[in-house]
Formats: sequence, structure tokens, C-alpha cells
Amino acid sequence: MRRKEMKSALLAGRYQPFHLGHLSVAEDILQEPDVDKLIIGIGSAQYSHNEKNPFTADERERMIRRSLHPEKPYEMIKIDDTHDNSTWISHVEKSCPAFDIVYTGNPLVKQLFEGRGYEVRPPSLRYVISATDIRKMMMLGDEWKKHVPQGTVDVIDEIDGVRRVRETIVKYPRPILVTDLVINYNNHPEKSGIVLIKRKDEPFINFWALPGGHFMPGKELIETAAVREAKEETSLCIERTSLNLLGVYSEPGRDPRGNYVSIAYYTTPYGVRRGVLKAGDDAKEIGVFNREELPRLAFDHNNMLDDYFRMRDEDLNRSINEGRFLWR
Ligand code: NAD
Repeated sequence: MRRKEMKSALLAGRYQPFHLGHLSVAEDILQEPDVDKLIIGIGSAQYSHNEKNPFTADERERMIRRSLHPEKPYEMIKIDDTHDNSTWISHVEKSCPAFDIVYTGNPLVKQLFEGRGYEVRPPSLRYVISATDIRKMMMLGDEWKKHVPQGTVDVIDEIDGVRRVRETIVKYPRPILVTDLVINYNNHPEKSGIVLIKRKDEPFINFWALPGGHFMPGKELIETAAVREAKEETSLCIERTSLNLLGVYSEPGRDPRGNYVSIAYYTTPYGVRRGVLKAGDDAKEIGVFNREELPRLAFDHNNMLDDYFRMRDEDLNRSINEGRFLWR
């Protein structure tokens, strides 16, 4: 009878690193009279060696295992980010054993779990510190060790973690440069329109997107990268001289992987020299879409297409007014 009232609790976090605040929360949860099991979800599990996530999921698991020694059982589960809040909770549910309560002080996590009908409890705030503060202390050579349990100190010393944190925090972070392409294609047997590819990988897996990809600095021009990516992703050969600059897209957060800046180009049907549309290795599918049937695209690619169509409409109006016709 009593067993029936007992609950499993989930505490999800990044633990970059696992500190005394996290430890006190985990210990307090395990003291709760109605909780008989704790599941510690190690979030953002796919990330490491970057500014916000310097430590791997395995290293974080080791920090916790060596620091937390409760009487009641607990389990650790690694949970990847999905970068799509509408799918994250079901992804957590699939990754973890069943749980009844969620402990979190993170407003977004609270909102998502409450939206799914879970009871959400705030963690006790007995030790005021954040992992961001600890990483800053490591960077500045301040006394960080007093804010973390000995298990975390030991793991960080073993992996030379302070050096790693310092190497990942840079004063002027470099952007990652990519290029995207609006290809206006009219050789399709059924229709003409914009070439899109369906993404095979995260982020935005299964979303349609403009063809494009990473620029390789020191090896090519950005225009050459655009031509190369078009060939790799669509099999189309694009004339480099037919590339027109659409814009530079640098909105923070436009790509969940980091500070991505895209230099976007457009090309006319006459810029497509040859080739039959065929999805490349990075794409699940390829398609040609007219303006009226464009889907919701990955990243900020809908904005790019809005800019493209606006530019094309302006050109068309101008050329009609001037009595000439211009192809885009
Ligand atoms: P965190 O490591 O900062 O904190 C873990 C928990 O401990 C949080 O509930 C926090 O409120 C609590 N805490 C932190 N310091 C404390 C202190 N001093 N005293 C008491 N409690 C303290 O982790 P987080 O940012 O909350 O982790 C959420 C995870 O969920 C992240 O990995 C995030 O990426 C993931 N997430 C992913 C998606 C998605 O992919 N769509 C959406 C939402 C959240």
C-alpha cells in the first residue's frame, strides 16, 4: 500500500561541472519521504569541448558517481538535446525509465514538463553557485575547487579540465562560416521553382532546407564553396559567375550549433550549367518547390527566400517600368 505512494524523480541538468549546489539538490531529493528513486538526466549529452559544454557526458557521469553516495538508489541517463522543444519531452521519456516528478529551477524545462502534465518541484537553494560562475573562476585562476565536491575536483584534475575550459573560452569567438544557395531551377519535367533538400541530420533533421554547407578556410573562395556544396547536395553544376549575393545572415541563435554566419547567394536558371537533380549524401530527398507551396524550412532559410522573392519582385517591377525584361 505504502509502496504505491512512492515516486521516481527526474533531475535534468548539464552539470558543466557538477557542483555543490547540484549535489545538495540531489541529496535533498533523495531525502524526500515520497521519493524512492532518483534519475539524474545528463543533458546536452552530445556536446563537449565547447564554451558552454567543456566536459563530455562520460566525464560528467564520473563526477557525479564519485561525489554522490546516497542510501537510496539513483540512476544516470544521458540525454541529447533535440533543439526542438516540441519533441524534447518525448525524447526524454524515451531515453529514461518512467518518472513521476521533475525537479528543476530552469524555467523552460519547468514549462515543457508542466505542459506535458508532470508535477514539477523547485530544487532547494542551499548552496548558491552556478556552473557558469565556476567555469569563469577556472578561466581567471580563482578558487573554484571549494564550490565543487571532491569527486568533481578529482575528475577535472585527471582530464586537465581547467586547461580545456580555458581553451574553449575565447575573448573574441570566431564565427563558423557557411554558404546557402537559392537555385531557381526550370529544367524539371513537371515544374520550375526553388531547389530544396530534406535534411538527413540534426539540427533540423527531416526539415527542408536550401542547399549549402561549410566554408573551408584557406582552401577555397566562399563562391567556390557555394558551387561545391551545390554539386555535392543537388548534383547540379552552377556557374560561379552566375552567383549573385543575396545577403549575409548572422542573427545570433540562427543555428543551434554555435555562431554560424551564412553568406547566401542566388542563381538564375541560366546559371545552372548541367546536371540532373539528385540528392547528395547529406540529403534524404530533393525537390523543386514553387513560391506558393514552400514548406517551413530549417534555420532562417524562410527569411532568405523572403528576401530573394522581394528582391526579384522589385527587379521585375523596375524592369517593367523601364520597358525591359530581366531574368532572375
Ligand atoms: P544546470 O546544470 O544548469 O542545472 C541543473 C539543475 O540544477 C537545474 O534544475 C538547476 O535549476 C539546478 N541548479 C543549478 N544550480 C543550482 C544551485 N546552486 N542550487 C540549487 N539548484 C541548482 O542544467 P539546466 O540548464 O537546467 O539543464 C537543462 C538541460 O535540458 C540542458 O542540457 C538543456 O540543453 C536541456 N534542454 C534541451 C531542450 C531541447 O533540446 N529542445 C529543451 C530544454 C532543455
